[in-house]
Amino acid sequence: MARNAVQFQKGLSEAEFTRLYGTEPQCRAIVIAARWPDGFICPACGGRAHSLVKSRDLFQCTACRRQTSPIAGTIFASTKLPLRTWFRAMYHMTQSKQGISSIELGRRLGVTQTTAWKVKHKLKQVMMERDAGKRLTGRVEIDDVYLGGERRGGKRGRGAPGKTPFVAAVETTPAGQPVRLKLSRVEGFSIKALSSFARRCLGPGSTVVSDGLQCFTGVTEAGCTHQPMVTGGGAAAARKPAFKWVNTALGNIKAAIVGTYRSVNSKHVPRYLAEFQYRFNRRYDLARATNSCFTG
Ligand SMILES: [Zn+2]
Repeated sequence: MARNAVQFQKGLSEAEFTRLYGTEPQCRAIVIAARWPDGFICPACGGRAHSLVKSRDLFQCTACRRQTSPIAGTIFASTKLPLRTWFRAMYHMTQSKQGISSIELGRRLGVTQTTAWKVKHKLKQVMMERDAGKRLTGRVEIDDVYLGGERRGGKRGRGAPGKTPFVAAVETTPAGQPVRLKLSRVEGFSIKALSSFARRCLGPGSTVVSDGLQCFTGVTEAGCTHQPMVTGGGAAAARKPAFKWVNTALGNIKAAIVGTYRSVNSKHVPRYLAEFQYRFNRRYDLARATNSCFTG
């Protein structure tokens, strides 16, 4: 199969998705093409000559006789689900703006909620790993957010989920249009924590625009320039309408995250943030987002 055999169009319709990825052989061919874009390579000896063990869907190396499953070592190997179920899960997770609950996903896939939950978390892990290494650069607008811990009348004390602090950062064009989003859990809103965040998530030399909260000066320790934002209706704000635009975008992002994941257990917060971030960063090409879930 040729390299890049799959080309998703923008806004993939459900009918089109079914036509392209509805059967097991279709999904299998895509996984194989993604794994071995230039044809089979034996992981044991590097040989290319092979035969197929039809009964078990394995590739057998002609030179060393080693049998290899195309899904071994991928996330697809972790369940007994057919590949087409995984593909449908990726479709549902990446095409909906607000995300999808594991109950709803289970219903659509025809699996239990527990299975749907596992699939979701595996896919979120992939999304998280994909975005982990990419730092924001240039002009970056930054804000502090708390997630969870807002249950009223729930259990208190030990075991009650606390609020999880995280930083929302948006890289923008010089004119203030959002480019990429980074959501990252932090220890707290201290100078030290923000310094650590900047080292992890921002390129040195970035200009960090904030509302002036003291801890944000921590980014200078990572080689960034800190620029407290002028808020309110002053002359400076009026000269830079882009500030207001990104501020609104950031406000919407915060509201969406807090609204969708109100009572997330804090240990799962990084994955939820990763999912949101991943979707945002591919917001202009959701169909492609599905594709990149299984090509890496
Ligand atoms: Zn071999």
